[in-house]
Amino acid sequence: MNLSLIMTRGMETDATLTVVTVVGAGPAGLASAEILSKSGVEVKVIDKDTNPGEEKPCGGMLRIGSARLLGVPCELASREIRGMRVILPNHRVEEVDYGHIISLNVDRGVLGRYLINRVRKAGGDVNTGMKVVDLAKSVDDKLAKRYELTCKTADGRLYKIGTDLLIAADGTDSIIAKKTGVHAALRPNQLGHCVQYQIELENELIEKRIGDRNEVYYGHDVSPFGYGWIFPKNHLVTVGVGALLSTVRVNLWKYLDYFVRKHPVARERLLGGRILKFETALCPLSGLVTPTYGDNLVVAGDAAGHCSAISGEGMYYSMVAGRLAGEICSEAIKAGDLSARYLRKYELAWRRLIGSDLRWGKWLQRIALKSGFMSGSFEKNTPLTSKLGKRVTDVLGGIRPYRGALLRAIPEFLISKLIS
Ligand SMILES: Cc1cc2nc3c(=O)[nH]c(=O)nc-3n(C[C@H](O)[C@H](O)[C@H](O)COP(=O)(O)OP(=O)(O)OC[C@H]3O[C@@H](n4cnc5c(N)ncnc54)[C@H](O)[C@@H]3O)c2cc1C
Repeated sequence: MNLSLIMTRGMETDATLTVVTVVGAGPAGLASAEILSKSGVEVKVIDKDTNPGEEKPCGGMLRIGSARLLGVPCELASREIRGMRVILPNHRVEEVDYGHIISLNVDRGVLGRYLINRVRKAGGDVNTGMKVVDLAKSVDDKLAKRYELTCKTADGRLYKIGTDLLIAADGTDSIIAKKTGVHAALRPNQLGHCVQYQIELENELIEKRIGDRNEVYYGHDVSPFGYGWIFPKNHLVTVGVGALLSTVRVNLWKYLDYFVRKHPVARERLLGGRILKFETALCPLSGLVTPTYGDNLVVAGDAAGHCSAISGEGMYYSMVAGRLAGEICSEAIKAGDLSARYLRKYELAWRRLIGSDLRWGKWLQRIALKSGFMSGSFEKNTPLTSKLGKRVTDVLGGIRPYRGALLRAIPEFLISKLIS
């Protein structure tokens, strides 16, 4: 297929034509766009938000591995994190100090601006404040199969963009995944529901009470099935509660309010804070979702379920998948083959790198649900020794691959059983 021929062929006068269009300027979309631009491919990124990232509800915990992978500097962080605390259902605090940086707590608005600048520097065209509202697949002649996107700007103007190759990185509620029907929509037992406050707190108090630790709270009073978190930043703490959507019977805001105002440990941390912002969002907790490719199409990040089902951590998996999407799409363009058969390489590639964590994450989620780990009944039967606690934080902090953490946990689990 001759792509330059396709590019110069005209469409309607209000339409533009581009080789690759990335929908979504989150970690997945921007990672793919940077790789494509650097390899000399014409790429257009579209995002509905004026400042992508700024309005994205997220704890902002970027594991150090993803920061290194993408070359995100430590200076971008609001706080460097060196350890974790797990607060158990009986309010016992298990603390792990790793002695080195394990994650950067970032402001998503700051991260978004930084990644967009990098794409623009590499020659990519990033268009913000432009929402994809419709999508059609055209087979307009023997040469070209392509997608036609209808986009709407904040002031109501409509634009059409024709594209040879589409990267869908438009998050959990992906319009592209829905309209193309690339994979089935996620069910309530595959989705997480999260509610979150951004709370202003003096740095002195953050240092004294939380320091360089991310805190994760379990218990039926914190979440019906999930956990609560307190992630410290700069003059700010991000405080949230998440649960598997299928387990939510009572409004989650009630849990969050209890957590902030009455939970014996969390309350002490947050005394004197001022709520600046309320946020809510869904995230995929689905394990492997396939397929994530089709003719002239790949799907990456939350839109493809690239998020841990046990922790809800998604930036790392999205960035890895986004980079692979960029690499394989660039190769496909050079090979002149945008067929599903060629683009299947993308799915094979992400399964090799992150498939194991996604699969084991879902398995752990099922085990946690059955064993009552999150509600506390697990702890009654199997006390969380400090070694077992470390395996939990290894998984939550993305310190080591899940399979490795699980293998290390087996003897420690058996010892716990013996103790009890
Ligand atoms: C409350 C909460 C806390 C979280 N905390 C963490 C955490 O601490 N650490 C972590 O690693 N992960 C966390 N996650 C998960 C993480 O935020 C996501 O996995 C990650 O942002 C996924 O990146 P993405 O690029 O796939 O999608 P997103 O970051 O969601 O980006 C998608 C982009 O697409 C745009 N878009 C959507 N629809 C359209 C459309 N129709 N047209 C144009 N643009 C569109 C959006 O504006 C958005 O900018 C959290 C999630 C939630 C909900």
